[in-house]
Parts: sequence; C-alpha cells; structure tokens
Amino acid sequence: MKRIALISTPWPLFNRPSIQLGTLKAYLKDKLPSLPVDNRHIYLSIAAEIGYDLYTTVSEKTWLAESLYAGLLYPHREEPISRFWKKRTSRVPTAKTHDFQEICKILRKRSAELLDRENWDRYVLAGFSICFGQLTGSLYFIREIKKRAPHIKIVAGGSACAGALGRTLLRSFPEIDFVIRGEGELPLLSLVKSLTRAQGTANGKGMPGLLSRNEPAESEGVSQLSNLDELPVPDYSDYFRELNALESEKKFLPRIPMEISRGCWWRKPVGPGRSSGCAFCNLNLQWEGYRAKSRHRTLQELDTLARRHQILSVSFMDNLLPAKGLESMFKGIRELGKDFRLFSEIRATTSRPVLEAMGAAGMKEVQVGIEALSSGLLRKLNKGTTTIDNIEIMKNCETIALPSLTGNLILNFPSSDERDVSETLKNLDFVFPFRPLKGIPFWLGYESPAFQTPSAYGIRRVVNHPYYTHLFPEAVLRKLRFMIQGYQGGIRYQNRIWKPVKEKLEEWRKFYLKLHQAPGSDPILSYQDGFDFMIIRQRQYGTHDMTHRLRDTSRKIYLFCETHRSLPQILSHFPGFGEEKVGPFLRMMVDKRLMFNAGDAYLSLAVPLHASPFKRN
Ligand code: SF4
Repeated sequence: MKRIALISTPWPLFNRPSIQLGTLKAYLKDKLPSLPVDNRHIYLSIAAEIGYDLYTTVSEKTWLAESLYAGLLYPHREEPISRFWKKRTSRVPTAKTHDFQEICKILRKRSAELLDRENWDRYVLAGFSICFGQLTGSLYFIREIKKRAPHIKIVAGGSACAGALGRTLLRSFPEIDFVIRGEGELPLLSLVKSLTRAQGTANGKGMPGLLSRNEPAESEGVSQLSNLDELPVPDYSDYFRELNALESEKKFLPRIPMEISRGCWWRKPVGPGRSSGCAFCNLNLQWEGYRAKSRHRTLQELDTLARRHQILSVSFMDNLLPAKGLESMFKGIRELGKDFRLFSEIRATTSRPVLEAMGAAGMKEVQVGIEALSSGLLRKLNKGTTTIDNIEIMKNCETIALPSLTGNLILNFPSSDERDVSETLKNLDFVFPFRPLKGIPFWLGYESPAFQTPSAYGIRRVVNHPYYTHLFPEAVLRKLRFMIQGYQGGIRYQNRIWKPVKEKLEEWRKFYLKLHQAPGSDPILSYQDGFDFMIIRQRQYGTHDMTHRLRDTSRKIYLFCETHRSLPQILSHFPGFGEEKVGPFLRMMVDKRLMFNAGDAYLSLAVPLHASPFKRN
C-alpha cells in the first residue's frame, strides 16, 4: 500500500517531537487505520549532526535559520547569502566562529543521506509542516524529493501557509501541488482519501482550506474540527524511534509538546480583513475562533503521554490557555500524582490562585505576554492589560514555588512616543527586583492588526522584509509573500527614543544576575511576617541590605495590597483610617520602591521570603 510521509525540516526546537506531525499522524491513523504514515523529524537528525549548541543558536534566530538552507536552495547565490550570514552573526558569539560554507557543506551531506535512505517511490504524498524559520529548509527538501520521485504529490501546511502566504507559495514553487491554508486535519484527510482512492489523482476541489495547483483561486475559508476532544492523543512514536537511533552520546531526554486549545480568545474578527487582538500578533492565522479541550480530555491526554513515553517534562503549545477553569485543571494535573515539569505561555492577568495551582502542578516556567511597562503603550498594543497587571505578575512569579517568568519588552513599536518611553523608564526602576525582561525590537507580522491597518500606527508603506532580498532571487521575491514584513514610517525616530530603554534593560539584567549569582539566593525584595509586624528586606549590590519594619495597620495595608487595590478599596477595608493617614503611608512606600502606584491603585512589591508564609490576617 502506498504510504504518506509527514516531514518537519530544521529549525524547530530539537528536543521535542513536532506536535503538528504527531497530531496529524494520530488523526490519519484514527480515520484510515490501514494507511501507513511515516513522520520524519529531519530537524532532529540535523541537530545531532551540527551539534545541539549551534543548532539552538540558529533555531533562535529566524534570519540565521533561513540563511543556511537558502544557501543550499540557491547554490549560485551562496556568496551574498554568506555575506548576510556573516553580518547577522557578527554579534552572536555562539555562531560567529562558524563558517557559513562549512555549515552548508555539512547540511548538504547530511540532508542527502537522509533523502537517499528513503525509498520515495513508496510514497504517494509528502506533507510539510512549515512554521517559523522552516521556509527555505522545507523548500529545499521539497525540491530534492521531487527530483528523486517526480510522481509524489507535495502538500504544504502550517503557519507559513496561512492566508495569502499559502497561495503565493503555490504560485512560486511548481514542486508544491497542494497547500493547506488553515487547520490541517480535515483537508489532509480529504486529500489523502482522494489520492489513495483515485490512484494518485486529486484536485482538492470543494474542500475549504485546501488549495491545489490546478484550482488555486478556489477553496477559500478553512475546514476545522468543531470539537478538539475528538482528536486522538498525538503519535510521537517516530520521533522516539529517530532519537533512539542516535549515537548514545547524542541521546537526551526530550520534552513532550501538548496542546489544550487552538486559537486566541482575545483576537476577534472586526470586519473584512481586519481583526482585533494584540496589534503586533500574527499567531493564530490558521485558526478561526477559539476551541479548547475539556478538562477531562486534557488530563487523560497528559497522563497518557507521560506514561507512554515515560517523560515528565511537558510544554503546552497553546498561544493562549483557556480563560476559565485553569485553577481546577491544574489542580487536576497535580492529582495525577506525577512530578511534572511544565511550561506554558500565559496572559499577564493570570491570577495568583491560578499561578499557585500551576506551581503546585509542576509549572516551572511561564512565558508571560508582558510586552510593555507603559499603560499608554499597552493601549496602543491593544494588550488588554495595564502596567500594574504586568508588575503584579512579575512580582508573583518571583515567589518561591510559583513558576518563574520569562517575558519580552517590545521596543520601537511604530506609534510609540517619548511619553511611552519615559513612562517605561520610570516604571523600570520598580521592577529591578524581578526577573529581567528581554528587549525585542518590533517586527511587522503578516496579517497582524498593525499590518492590516498600517496608517493607524504611522506606517506608510508595507513590503516584504528587505532581508529576504539576501535569501531569494528577484523572480521569487516578486511573487512570494512572507511572514515577516518590512515597513516605512518613523523607524529612525523609534530607534532613537528607545535607546535608553535598551541600556536600562542591560543594567537590569546585570543587576539581577549579580544578586542571584549564588545558588538559592533570596528574592531581592522580600518580607517576613511576624504576625503583628513584618520586616521587609531590600537586597542591594555592593552595599548592605536595607530593612524596613511595618507594624499593625501599616503591615495589614501592605499585605492587603499584595494584589493591587485602589485607594477607595483600601480606605473602605480600613475604615478607622482616613486618607490623611493612609495617603502619606502609601506615598512613602512608593518613594522607597516597596510599592508601585498607577493612578489610584497600589501594589506591594515584596514577596514572602518563604514558600509557605504563616497564615496571616
Ligand atoms: S499575543 Fe497572545 S493574547 Fe495577544 S493576540 Fe497573540 S495569541 Fe492572542
């Protein structure tokens, strides 16, 4: 029987199987049990070949990732691509010592071995999951497979095929026969059925989201499952087989990817070709609406994957976890009785009880959508959060036994101005005790709200990002639309005004590192509660710590503001104390940076020194 190959090329994280491939294989096997489906994690073999350190460096930088296979795809352009690589790696210590031609030589040799060890005649269809950083790698393998087996049909899917991207891919590369423009399961099943029944003829007609070379203008819309509980548990068996085949010194314990939901409930369509959601975000283009698995299904899947693979490190791949039921779900995960090590992306508005349930379930690290420390800028970004929300979660995540936070600060956002920058600089002074954020220069994502209505953000002209000119020939550039877009409008101004923030982020990083260089260091700003008094300790670098003692009502107000509270809330909670007494206390605490204040809201910044502080009133 003819087989199906599902392929993922470099550069996804090498230490976990592809959730796209695993989910699609399980779905096809469920619907067509006799159909052989082989998943090929080319990226794992390549990572093992070039070394995990170099692979990781490349996989974290899109332009490096796209450069290497661009060199293989267009050998006659190796010289300009090599110059581009050199420029992009000049400030990347872990990459700049590597010669572009040398890496390309290794990639070419290993890729040929991987291609030649397959008998492609056995396959009727090869499906490529193309996500961030995988475009040139996928195009290279597609071309090479077609050379070896011209009869094989090629289908491309994944986030790089969403919207118009997929259609332009089909127009630009004759080796690609089909493109799936949204969720993969239903269109892929339909394509496979049609190919296997009709001995290799299929036109993809009539299935929304499946574009074919013959009918590129048809099949608008997407086809997606209405209930994610219908999905079988992902099949990662091929990844584990490939991993086990590596030489013993290259083997490692991987992480398991898992999805609870698809889409983003914060992003909504607001008119033809327009959507709300975070202004910079173009995730979720392949989904319509938001769907989540039930609690029961999530727990069952997590348990099954952990048992099946004897692995306890799990990354939730969701762009946005469900808004409701998280506390109960993480309590359920804890009740599975496994010592998990979990990772997830979460919103800054995630409450303390949810974080506590996550921490108890084994969530060690969360990527939080902070993005800015200026409420004005957060409004422009349409994050739906405020600076005090962000600082509250940064503070909470500094608490022992709660997940550690990683997050970004978007620099150079097109419509940002001096006020946003000065607010950011002022607020940065309050967050030095917490884990530093990473400064990320804004990039314009295809179909993000900023792309859809550029003039609203002061963007004058949108084109493919100019860096693609280093990678692709002119003829391709004219036809293809890329995920990363370039623009004109205030770029120099943005670079100039954000420079002091970049410098302060570096200062913050160094400060935090110095105070945490000893293993098991105490939090930089912590408190110990003495029941009717409390002691707050502020660690300093190069000088002695500062301590502050709060008694009676001062202590109670400080503890009451562990979650940010408005002045009227504070006054009504402590009725015996008027604004004339409470106000000066709060202002003093803000002056000492023991509390943060925004408008009439106040937030205490110290975290308990111990994991389980004594019960307080
Ligand atoms: S950044 Fe997160 S919350 Fe915002 S639109 Fe994207 S997925 Fe949704």
